[in-house]
Amino acid sequence: MFESLQSKMNGSVILPEHPNYEESRAIFNAAIKKQPSAIAICKDELDVAESVQFANVHGLEISIRGGGHHISGTSLTEGGLLIDLSAMKQVAVDETTKVAKVGGGALLSDVDSETQKYGLAVPTGTVSETGIGGLALSGGLGYLRGKYGLSCDNILAAQVVTAHGEIVRASADEHADLYWAIRGGGGNFGVVTQFEFQLFEVGPEVLALDVMYDLQDADSIYRQLDEFQKTAPDEISLNVTVMDLPPLPDLPEFLHFKPVLILSGMYEGEVDHGEEVIKPLREMATPIVDQSGVVAYTDLQTKLDAMVPQQANFKGSSLFFQDLSPESWQEILAEKEKAPGHLMLQLWEVHGQMNRVPADETAFATRDARYALLLDIMYEDENEEACQEWINGFYHRFAPISYNGAAYLNGIDPDSEIIQNSYAANYKRLVEIKEKYDPENVFQRNHNIQRASVHSD
Ligand SMILES: Cc1cc2nc3c(=O)[nH]c(=O)nc-3n(C[C@H](O)[C@H](O)[C@H](O)COP(=O)(O)OP(=O)(O)OC[C@H]3O[C@@H](n4cnc5c(N)ncnc54)[C@H](O)[C@@H]3O)c2cc1C
Repeated sequence: MFESLQSKMNGSVILPEHPNYEESRAIFNAAIKKQPSAIAICKDELDVAESVQFANVHGLEISIRGGGHHISGTSLTEGGLLIDLSAMKQVAVDETTKVAKVGGGALLSDVDSETQKYGLAVPTGTVSETGIGGLALSGGLGYLRGKYGLSCDNILAAQVVTAHGEIVRASADEHADLYWAIRGGGGNFGVVTQFEFQLFEVGPEVLALDVMYDLQDADSIYRQLDEFQKTAPDEISLNVTVMDLPPLPDLPEFLHFKPVLILSGMYEGEVDHGEEVIKPLREMATPIVDQSGVVAYTDLQTKLDAMVPQQANFKGSSLFFQDLSPESWQEILAEKEKAPGHLMLQLWEVHGQMNRVPADETAFATRDARYALLLDIMYEDENEEACQEWINGFYHRFAPISYNGAAYLNGIDPDSEIIQNSYAANYKRLVEIKEKYDPENVFQRNHNIQRASVHSD
């Protein structure tokens, strides 16, 4: 039956018997084995519209894939139609208006490499192989969050293929409700084939903070960081990463498997002043290594790529915190020892512009937390169940002291309670907009918004 779809598409339809099927199906998280009946590799918005209509007529579940990086694997469907946007990566910069038009399947590297030609940047994330589609539609936390906000805060407009296969433009003046919903509401409302993003002057060189401390100093470092965060200027954004170092060949042997705390970030502003600002962050304990310094923005944006393992099994969790006491931080760290896999635990401080946006101005509701906790656990097949149990247990143990049990939805499996906690008062409006644009829940492979889940008033 897929011949009729192929005949209407500029792109191609890949079926399970195709020699490239497995390669085309693969996503970041190797644990997700779902097998779509077909993969529609769309070249343009008309291909996307044809694919949506085809799936509707044939009763096929749709999944949308931007960069395929969400660890929950919502970009794959079992037996349905995968709408793949990887051939829609075009990035066009208008230097005068400072607006970038970005294809719905672009990766962060596509965005950064093109925008930096003009000394401009969109606030995105920190690993360049991530897709802008999923990242921006559910938030988008990166080094520019303090100064310029989340990626979703900087969406000026989007071309969207709706559940009925119509192509509409969402902006402040056109389909304003849809425009509100896609800024944080994920893939619930349609397939975004093109974003228009606000650009800012960034780089080409920036001041990066990158200090590795012994995990033994984590308590004292957290106390100092917590004080620093209270008055941190918008120009700086700080990420704490706790992990056991992998036995990489380019690391000296004494560091293999060593538990460390890495304090990383970026100062977006005048370098001399930035050096002063980051000085105390470099002296919070005796560093094992301090690689802070001036780097090309594009190098900083790709620096962490090497740390990301390919084709491994992952599970993830997340929570926001407003007040995280040093004692709770210690309890969180103690959980690391019980993780049945290799854990990367990240505590990202959040402040500045991303928290200045009113909670009801976009669908992304968490606007006055101080920290985002992100957990990623990499595991062997036989530990899958233990990992799931550990990850669920972690969320439920710390949710009561968190920011209303809200999570960063880009880092956690769909769960109706967590989704509602995260959208908070915005959930009701999201349900209304979902009913208007997608009453049959055609787009359900996501952190799904549904009427049945609305809390009674
Ligand atoms: C190694 C790694 C590093 C990360 N670093 C960061 C970071 O620094 N900052 C941060 O904020 N997040 C980060 N994330 C999380 C990241 O934001 C999410 O994984 C995000 O969903 C990735 O987008 P994607 O397009 O690659 O995802 P996909 O898996 O392709 O898509 C996820 C979902 O988004 C929706 N979607 C994607 N594209 C579209 C589209 N064009 N139109 C409509 N719906 C769409 C679909 O519902 C899809 O199921 C990281 C993840 C990984 C694995």
